[in-house]
Amino acid sequence: MIAMTHKHNFSAGPCILPQSVFEKAAEAVRDFKGKGLSILEISHRSTDFVEVMENARSLVRRLLDVPASHEVLFLQGGASLGFHIAALNFMKINGKGGYVHTGTWAGKAIEEGRKVGEAVVVASSEDDDFRYIPTDFEVPDDLDYLHITTNNTIRGTQFKSPPRTSVPLIADMSSDIFSKPVDVSKYDLIYAGAQKNLGPAGATLYIVRKDALGGTGRDLPSMLDLRKHIEKDSMYNTPPVFSVYVSMLNLEWLEAQGGVEEMEKRNRAKADLLYSELDANDLFEGTVVVEDRSVMNATFRLKDESLAQRFGRLAEEAGISGIKGHRSVGGYRASMYNALSLESVEVLVGAMKALRE
Ligand code: PMP
Repeated sequence: MIAMTHKHNFSAGPCILPQSVFEKAAEAVRDFKGKGLSILEISHRSTDFVEVMENARSLVRRLLDVPASHEVLFLQGGASLGFHIAALNFMKINGKGGYVHTGTWAGKAIEEGRKVGEAVVVASSEDDDFRYIPTDFEVPDDLDYLHITTNNTIRGTQFKSPPRTSVPLIADMSSDIFSKPVDVSKYDLIYAGAQKNLGPAGATLYIVRKDALGGTGRDLPSMLDLRKHIEKDSMYNTPPVFSVYVSMLNLEWLEAQGGVEEMEKRNRAKADLLYSELDANDLFEGTVVVEDRSVMNATFRLKDESLAQRFGRLAEEAGISGIKGHRSVGGYRASMYNALSLESVEVLVGAMKALRE
């Protein structure tokens, strides 16, 4: 059994997953499907695991309504390898990729793009410490792609809709995938580390338009070549078995809850509750512009730092975990991924109110 004292976990990732998923995952480690073997010791080529992989891929397809033009892959290397894989698979030799710079992770995607070829920053919010999402920018039509980070996990900003562009769109959706519906047809590539709304760290999800691949003129190492992974049905080498299995369990949970439409409603309700307290409570201030606030990661700080110890104590007494802001920005960050309940947000809001008393 999972401990009844489970914390209100606001961690940015790895993060909270549904308790029922933890239970089922624990059971599969002990005995997978009553077969007398652990999920950790079965062959990835066994019928049982091939079924898990296929089920996980179909769940992604169903939940995000992935069109037949796109393939779904569970690979490895995290979103950090995704930065590189995106550029390698989409930037032509002597071509260039465009990037919207909205914070740390977008910056890393640019850095990796530059190792592959010419990476052009088309728009940036660096001028205001990444407190907003740039809009109203022109995308040159000679780019091989435009890369965005849909949700900026560290800064707490989020694209509410993707920028209009005539060039192929690539998105790092690590921290908001499965939190709401997405029109996959707008993207040539979506990638996301599993460890937020998908599952445990280890797997990295890729959703890629098949006919967009193969035109770069590059001869890629097999592990970095998305065509190779498609050809091998996401089983070119040993996949991250446990991470894919638990992702499958989590996606089954998500489907049973009503899918991404239901998640969007719940996530909106949680974010509304937290942000209204933030706006009403004069001890705190949000750190980003209101229109671009993330539904997943709310960033804020105390106006008077000397209250930090008291707030820390109140939060701890309430069983709150993981609200410390990223080390590069400080303050607080409350991550409200799918599995976090409204009740947990009520508890956090309660601690914020208590600080005023
Ligand atoms: N992109 C975003 C938006 C992220 O939030 C993170 C990690 N938190 C990364 C990329 C890096 O992911 P990984 O650790 O899986 O390489």
